[in-house]
Amino acid sequence: MATDSSAPHSAGRPSAGIPLFSTYVHPRAAEQVAAVLATTMLSEGRLVKQFEQQLTAECGLRHPAAVNSGTSALHLALEVAGVGPGDEVILPAQTFVASGTSILQTGAVPIFADICYSDGNLDPADIEHRITRRTKAIMPVHWGGYPCDLAEIGAVAARHGLVVVEDAAHALGATYRGQPIGAISDYTCFSFQAIKHLTTGDGGAVCALDPAKAEEVLHRRWFGIDRAHSPMSELGEREYDLRQLGYKYHLSDYAAALGLANMAGLHERMQRRRAIARRYRAELRDVPGLTHFEYRADRESAYWLFGFHVERRLDFIRSLKAAGITASVVHVGIDHNTLFGGRRPALSNQRRFDDTQVHIPLHDALTDGDVDHIIAVIKQGW
Ligand SMILES: *Cc1c(COP(=O)(O)O)cnc(C)c1O
Repeated sequence: MATDSSAPHSAGRPSAGIPLFSTYVHPRAAEQVAAVLATTMLSEGRLVKQFEQQLTAECGLRHPAAVNSGTSALHLALEVAGVGPGDEVILPAQTFVASGTSILQTGAVPIFADICYSDGNLDPADIEHRITRRTKAIMPVHWGGYPCDLAEIGAVAARHGLVVVEDAAHALGATYRGQPIGAISDYTCFSFQAIKHLTTGDGGAVCALDPAKAEEVLHRRWFGIDRAHSPMSELGEREYDLRQLGYKYHLSDYAAALGLANMAGLHERMQRRRAIARRYRAELRDVPGLTHFEYRADRESAYWLFGFHVERRLDFIRSLKAAGITASVVHVGIDHNTLFGGRRPALSNQRRFDDTQVHIPLHDALTDGDVDHIIAVIKQGW
């Protein structure tokens, strides 16, 4: 197998084969996290604020509030959006279970709509007939980092007075019609889990367009206590009156230090991902039995994943495995889970997608040699 041991960031990867994902830790991160440990100021503080400011400066996020996971971000956004018991939230099944469990956490019911077979994203044309009196929100998921049809989805939401809460766990750095993901819908939720583009170990962020809602997110990520307006009394306790249920969802400063360290060079890393994706698309254009996903000119993917459709998928996965390359479906439709009602609504594109989609490695530890090898193996056929 082609490898390049002098490549940056290759330390710590398994020597046997090319994995599907890697975790990126900046060479200076250890030192920066150690500096926080030395201060013993570990919890939420100055560095969390700095991390949020950097998310805005570097990625264009509007009012990001850092939290301790992407799942917390989704739950908190839904709560602040007013989603509660008995409500319904429409989402695609092509996602990780966290999209669905965060809805259940509020007491609402996830309602699955179909996807576009061409990219795995929520089909805007399959939403409206699923809207009922109970529908409160739509949760589009940018599968693999490729932005959904946000204009069409936003128009459906506006017609019916619904809130849009984006699950943008895969989409940090993506753009839609010139605007960054994180600055478009009512709420956008990111994940900084270990294998996402930018990691804080575990972490996430909620962006709320409305400044009042963004303020509410800040309070409710920490029990509902407004720290800025709850002075210490002479008796030695903060003075506040809890008015809304909040959660223990804040990010800690040592995690923010890791996020800040990893932010250095983020754009270069994203450009490299895009360059690899361009090579995959160009060099695998005419491979028999392989159909690429659709890419439109009005949006740019964050390329967390690189996927396409293949014929005889198990043969494809086995043939790559024999050449030391991991290929995977990553996730199939989550609607089959008993927890989500165990129903199998008619989602014909989802079922077709479940049968043919597959993803190949696209991450920071890939060397040029790895990419050559992956392309050559796929071109040989399966
Ligand atoms: C990673 C992920 C999440 C959850 O993020 P965590 O930070 O792991 O809680 C939610 N939705 C999708 C689509 C994800 O991939």
